[in-house]
Amino acid sequence: MTPRSLLRLVLAGAVAAGGFAAATAPANASKAPKTVPVRLLALNDFHGNLEPPTGSSGRMVDENGATVEAGGAAYVATHMKALSDKNTIAVAQGDLIGASPLISAAYHDEPSVEFMGKIGLKVAAVGNHEFDEGYTELRRIMKGGCHPVDGCSPAGTWKGAQYDYVGANVLFKNPNEKTDALAALGAPQSQVKKLMSDWGVPALPPVSVKWMNGVPIGFIGLVTQTTPNIVTADGIKNLKFVDEVKAANLASKLLKLVGVKAQVVLVHEGDQVTAGQSPDACSAVPGAGNRIATQVDPEIDVILSGHSHQAYLCKVKDPAGQDRLYSQGGSFGRVITKVDLNVNVKTRDIDRASVVADNQVVTRTVTPDPEISAFVQTWKDRVAPVANKPVGRITADITNTAAPSGESPLGDLIADGQLAGTKTGGNAQIALMNPGGVRASLTFAGSAAGEGDGVVTYGEAFTVQPFNNLMQVVTLTGAQLKTVLEQQFTGGPNAQPFTKILQPSANFTYTYSSGAAWGSKVSNMKIDGVAVTDAQTIRVAANNFLVGGGDAFLGFKDGTDLWSGPLDIDAFVDQLGRDNPIAPPATTRITVTP
Ligand SMILES: [Zn+2]
Repeated sequence: MTPRSLLRLVLAGAVAAGGFAAATAPANASKAPKTVPVRLLALNDFHGNLEPPTGSSGRMVDENGATVEAGGAAYVATHMKALSDKNTIAVAQGDLIGASPLISAAYHDEPSVEFMGKIGLKVAAVGNHEFDEGYTELRRIMKGGCHPVDGCSPAGTWKGAQYDYVGANVLFKNPNEKTDALAALGAPQSQVKKLMSDWGVPALPPVSVKWMNGVPIGFIGLVTQTTPNIVTADGIKNLKFVDEVKAANLASKLLKLVGVKAQVVLVHEGDQVTAGQSPDACSAVPGAGNRIATQVDPEIDVILSGHSHQAYLCKVKDPAGQDRLYSQGGSFGRVITKVDLNVNVKTRDIDRASVVADNQVVTRTVTPDPEISAFVQTWKDRVAPVANKPVGRITADITNTAAPSGESPLGDLIADGQLAGTKTGGNAQIALMNPGGVRASLTFAGSAAGEGDGVVTYGEAFTVQPFNNLMQVVTLTGAQLKTVLEQQFTGGPNAQPFTKILQPSANFTYTYSSGAAWGSKVSNMKIDGVAVTDAQTIRVAANNFLVGGGDAFLGFKDGTDLWSGPLDIDAFVDQLGRDNPIAPPATTRITVTP
């Protein structure tokens, strides 16, 4: 249970806060309020990138507008060391694990969590991807123990994360879920109980308190409330993800109750930016992240965000009209956000005017940290027999960059593999792939040194399809298929936050009108050149995430005669071996009209 977390944190905060007050009361009072410095170093959306990420995932626009190579655990470690001083607390905003390359994923991301401990991480918000393998597995990652199916990793029994995972808006659905968190609270028990009475049972510690230079800093964890739409349903079926603002405000009160007024939100939700900006610019387009950053309680001083994989430093107004930092540090370990601030030792609050933030690009022109290099190499060696196995060849880069229609060459190729892998047994007629699940591009140069010959290794294929989703097939009517395709667009019921075009197999073509009203955008659906009628039934292949209604494609849930087949990565690897070499598919399956 997480109960221990909530109660221990609050308890620790209460005791420590009390002790602090007693100790500082007889002050050697100078007139100016005494402040102490605190430095936060923040990472988000690392996604298991122990090795330097390749392609566009490994490039970053720096403060001078130059595009530079960035990321890689050993470089992150060097930069973290260089940026750390004695006032430093390292924190993270989620998605440290999940959707990760094979070197991490093959061991259920234990290597990445261990790495984060090695570089001194103290607190991390959970991201949606922390739930990729389900809540039970997240608990194992937090607490330790070997994997129930795959057993212990080559490193032995997993010892658990060396940092706290926090998530204030993650609750158990069952209001009677067993927890001793609140009952065991000491002095503030009645108040905490009162505070929590109409809230719910926390599934994770909502807050973590870290002391620095004699002052407590409270960290509130939040994860996007859209998590149930973007995570496989089965693993989180006992959980609910509630409004981030409400949860943050309750957590803020909880911190205040134990005397913690320097409050930092670590939120796995963020906004999009204009491309090509300096990481220190504020080009974030106000969206879900901005809503949280502007609306949470004025007691909260700093908002460090994640999820959208963008870099920005913004100053927003809190509900009391005061400036508040709202930032994010890109993704894949390419940026570390450095935040310097002063805490008033008397009020224990952050002096907002003192907050200075800087997004530091994790360049590769520094010496990689030798200890972390060796650590990464150890895991590389362990996974090498699997990772380096060639599985196919390509004639040119096959990217996940969307054409104007929303199709990408790699998305199309994956869909083709999914159809081929589900015809036998599942009787699939077409396949549809969610674009967000195409996690990286295949580059002709490859990631292995000296490769450069179009060879695709299993490790590279896995980086593209890292979820270990199952391929499934369901029967939809022509009308239901059209509904699914309408659900690609914003504006309808349970609308998409932005258009998400499913990647179709080569034998499925259709037209959409960008200007037409939601519900009548899609027309001219054809399978193998034959028009689809409303009444006909079609066997549609997709991964279990989509079939479960993921990404707000609720239409899949109307499917019948569910069949489960191979893993998506296996279907993809088979496809890569089918033609030798493979040319990038032309993105002509979808036609767009005004
Ligand atoms: Zn995320």
